[in-house]
Amino acid sequence: MYTNLFCPFTCCPQHEGAEKPRGMVSKHTLRDHLIKCHQEELYKLNDNELESIDLHICRQCDDHVATSAARLRNHIKTKHIQTRKTTNQQIVTSKLYNPVKTASLNHWEAGLSWLDSFQPTPPTFRQSLISKVKFEIEDAVLTLFEDLIAVCVEVNKDPNNSELIDDYNYKREHIWKLPFIFEQLILAPKPRANSGSTNKNDTSIRKLIYHRIRLFRSGQLQQLYEESCLVHSRSRSSYIATPPDKNACAQEAADNDNFGACEKRLGSDLGIAPLNDTNIPILEKLFPKSLELNLRGLRRGRGQKKNTRSTTTTRANKKKIVFTPTEVIEHLSRLRRHKAPGVYQVSKTKNK
Ligand SMILES: [Zn+2]
Ligand SMILES: [Zn+2]
Repeated sequence: MYTNLFCPFTCCPQHEGAEKPRGMVSKHTLRDHLIKCHQEELYKLNDNELESIDLHICRQCDDHVATSAARLRNHIKTKHIQTRKTTNQQIVTSKLYNPVKTASLNHWEAGLSWLDSFQPTPPTFRQSLISKVKFEIEDAVLTLFEDLIAVCVEVNKDPNNSELIDDYNYKREHIWKLPFIFEQLILAPKPRANSGSTNKNDTSIRKLIYHRIRLFRSGQLQQLYEESCLVHSRSRSSYIATPPDKNACAQEAADNDNFGACEKRLGSDLGIAPLNDTNIPILEKLFPKSLELNLRGLRRGRGQKKNTRSTTTTRANKKKIVFTPTEVIEHLSRLRRHKAPGVYQVSKTKNK
């Protein structure tokens, strides 16, 4: 029997454009064919193609094909939708509060109600402490964030009793704000020390972050948020009045393996050094006529008297290939232009 149902995969002999497709008797035959022959590539079918043949694929398992939308809904409901019995308060207590329960009281009831009425605003600072958090503190921050994501996934489940779906204790939208303000709350820059305080670094970054993590885990979100709002980025005019220490900035860039920025910060405002009698001796010291390395002697195994006790070392030193600076310059000057071998060959000739 020939019908107008064909396999949607173009490479299949049952595709409409194939040489001799037999056609499918019904939707069910097509579904069985898809599951039997194309199970691994079912995800390639898009929704429009599927709609035209009235089949529905579960995008979560990618190998379940339903013959009607209702059947697919039923499949998703039974296989993929998980429900929960626990309230938001119980979830945040078990996942966030429990690690600090010996040191803090549980403030999550107030925390969740503050979060419900909270309207996120852009932070008052530009750069967080994210590049300064390393090793142990980084682990603590990441663990907290991981726990927070676990909370978000858990609260996203529907309550097992459908009557509770609009209940405040099972509401989820406000908890989803937390990952977005996480960096603002935990990694806000260190507030500047009071002008009266003589000790500039009265709180270390480590202490500050652990303090914030404790506040976060115990649900004191409002306090955290208010503290983060006290930090303001410096204005342009204040930067001009008291410029930051250039060496400290360059060191910070180097600490973060950003050597390009380090070099720029150090060298951006350097003037061109004048060439005069005062600095010529400095240049001569920097570029001496000879470094007196006795490289030729090293190559011939001479000048190794200190190592004569170990014959193997002497032999190893003899075998060393040593080039003197004169030889390097000689070889470089003999290289033919446009013929540089290796990866630069193409770009070099292109530039010419
Ligand atoms: Zn096929
Ligand atoms: Zn499924």
